Amino acid sequence: MKKWEEKLRQITPYVPGEQPDFPDMIKINTNENPYPPAPGVEKLLKEMDTKKLTLYPNPGAKLLVDELSKQYNIAPERIFVGVGSDDVLGMIFMTCFSSDKPILFPDITYSFYDVWADLFRVPYKRMPLDENFCIKKEDYLGENGGIVLANPNAPTSIAVGLDFIEDIVKNNQDSIVVVDEAYIDFGGESAFPLLEKYENLLVVQTFSKSRSMAGMRIGYAFGSERVISAIYAVRNSYNSYTMNYPSIVCGAEALKDVAYFKECTAKVIATRERMKKELAELGFSFPDSKTNFLFATHESVPAVELFEMLREKRIFVRYFKTPRIDNYLRITIGTDAQMDRVVEVLKEYLEKR
Ligand code: PMP
Repeated sequence: MKKWEEKLRQITPYVPGEQPDFPDMIKINTNENPYPPAPGVEKLLKEMDTKKLTLYPNPGAKLLVDELSKQYNIAPERIFVGVGSDDVLGMIFMTCFSSDKPILFPDITYSFYDVWADLFRVPYKRMPLDENFCIKKEDYLGENGGIVLANPNAPTSIAVGLDFIEDIVKNNQDSIVVVDEAYIDFGGESAFPLLEKYENLLVVQTFSKSRSMAGMRIGYAFGSERVISAIYAVRNSYNSYTMNYPSIVCGAEALKDVAYFKECTAKVIATRERMKKELAELGFSFPDSKTNFLFATHESVPAVELFEMLREKRIFVRYFKTPRIDNYLRITIGTDAQMDRVVEVLKEYLEKR
């Protein structure tokens, strides 16, 4: 090893789902939405004045923040926006978890949490989910440096109710409690109403799933003014212009089309409920998903085998080769036609095997 190499930071990064690009593929591996963004977004992009790109964007992404403020009826000072909820969560880890006590999150959850904790040198403890992949509330009632819960959790797809979250927030008023609601619009109960009562709560959401805009990279957090301004202070000590102009204007535009948003989420939910029945008939079982994916295991065929078989047919699902969940497939809900094809391929394989 060269001398300079010893000075490099060594870190094990988060591994995102692959982004294959075949014209005939069914890509149901990264929980994207199968429907296009709100029609207004396409119109805006086609008519965009590219001269605007010569200027730096508004550092506070004002247009987007104001529209979020209007739609959710919360003061703009209580909103932080970032480049996807990954950026928002990363900034939160950097800002809110600077004690020497460990932060707590489940052993099976979004696999970026421990990566950020390592990157920002935050001590952490992974609290085991129970045998049904449920969060054990009592694990989160002791002393800690902060709490991060995905609700619904990923990749388990299981949601907890508002009372459950409130108990944790209420009993942890000396820490910041972060609720990552990436999948909340598919049937979960948001912690948003608790923001009125608890200054230590942060609710994080994204445009990547329910608003069909993963490629735009827009995420946001709601919290108390004090916490949000602390996150902006850290962000502005690192990069003032994280949000680009097209994302700011397209994000604001997408928010306005409430009817389209409701229609798309309802379609995904309906397809998911139908898939629950069809996959169960093929011998799969899964938790009762409140997300845009199913976390499924088969009664006799190993998940890795099905993963590889589907892949050969250019159907991409997600498989995690990690303890406790290495016999599960995470299957994103696509269009009805895509899911019909998935069922057809699985059925054919399982009958022949
Ligand atoms: N939280 C959870 C639980 C997720 O599954 C994801 C998607 N990978 C994210 C946050 C980040 O999503 P994005 O950065 O696209 O908003």
